[in-house]
Amino acid sequence: MDRVPEVAVVGAGIVGLCTAYALTERGTAVRVYESGVPGHGQSGGQSRIFRHAHDDARLADFTRQGRAVWDEWADRLGAELISQDGVVALGRSVPGRLRILQDVGGIPARTVDSAELHTRMPLLADYRGPAMLDEAGGAIRTRAAVESLANALGDAMVPDEVISLHPTGHGTVEVLSAVGREEYATAVVCAGLGTARLARNVGLSLPVQPAAHVRLTFQVRGSPPQQVACLQDSSGDFGEVGVYAAPYPGNSRYAVGLSQTVEVREDGSFADPNALVALNDRARAYVSHALPGLDPEPVEYLHCWVTSLPWSEDGMAVWEADRILFAAGHNLFKQAPRLGRALAGAAMDEELEEILRPAATLGQPR
Ligand SMILES: Cc1cc2nc3c(=O)[nH]c(=O)nc-3n(C[C@H](O)[C@H](O)[C@H](O)COP(=O)(O)OP(=O)(O)OC[C@H]3O[C@@H](n4cnc5c(N)ncnc54)[C@H](O)[C@@H]3O)c2cc1C
Repeated sequence: MDRVPEVAVVGAGIVGLCTAYALTERGTAVRVYESGVPGHGQSGGQSRIFRHAHDDARLADFTRQGRAVWDEWADRLGAELISQDGVVALGRSVPGRLRILQDVGGIPARTVDSAELHTRMPLLADYRGPAMLDEAGGAIRTRAAVESLANALGDAMVPDEVISLHPTGHGTVEVLSAVGREEYATAVVCAGLGTARLARNVGLSLPVQPAAHVRLTFQVRGSPPQQVACLQDSSGDFGEVGVYAAPYPGNSRYAVGLSQTVEVREDGSFADPNALVALNDRARAYVSHALPGLDPEPVEYLHCWVTSLPWSEDGMAVWEADRILFAAGHNLFKQAPRLGRALAGAAMDEELEEILRPAATLGQPR
């Protein structure tokens, strides 16, 4: 690429990739800086859950809109990006969340009895409490999404680390990277764990909370089921009140994690060094109680960093500083295409959507 593109995107996790792809949809030339391997930060590993159920109706609606973007891109990229098998949610939060989805409208979700639950989620032990099915939810094919977006972006992706970026004072943004110095009309920072640091350099203090997280993957016993939904379990019936789980492509493996994370200090060290091991053990114990369809010995471990905003575990927001946008939040995989389109619009001089401004505290029920 000879000419410097119009927009710099920092980070090729799912949010940066979707933002860059949404910019190319508009015909805008973009450069994506990635210091590591695309899709290997918080976006790493196989499978994520696409669920509509949220405590904030605004976020449920945002997610509904996002589902349409996933479908559009799956058609265009020629890849299955979300499975067809839905998401089942268990526990006392079910009636409230179902009501929110019904109020938002356009989201096929309903309660299910234990017989249907067994068909939709054959790996689960007998369960008789409140349960619902989010029919248009499913397992996000994370690797297919990252690879097809990265392929579509081609040589717009550069393996380079952004050390700093700042407004020049004459309507552009200068990006200083490990091996370059370039000026762009706008920059969008989607650097995950690195976003708050880059924002601090331009005087913004983002309330991003880093934490450590663990997710284990288990082998399905016997032949893989034809149909297997993702699971969100807040029932406590199997010893835990915050568990999520999703199948890998082909349904022969199932990834299980506790929503709980491990607090880290400013320097990245753990307040309790044993906490990550304890989370591992609890996830294994949960599987042996709740998921008899899985061999309880994990076949893969994913230990990773996550970032979140203080107002909700699904919170998401975008900060602006003089032609630089900073995106932050948690559980962003499902939101990335819709968020990417919003960031692309804001990068091209459209107003940032009100709902994404920090003052809107998207994710916190109003
Ligand atoms: C185990 C696990 C399970 C999850 N489950 C779900 C789920 O079920 N559903 C859901 O929607 N979400 C889920 N999430 C959250 C979701 O995966 C993340 O919110 C999302 O992937 C964040 O993407 P991102 O692009 O913002 O960040 P990242 O994927 O972290 O990408 C940031 C990228 O920026 C790069 N970078 C950083 N600094 C620089 C720099 N200075 N210069 C250049 N590059 C830089 C990094 O190398 C990285 O590749 C889960 C997360 C984890 C870890």
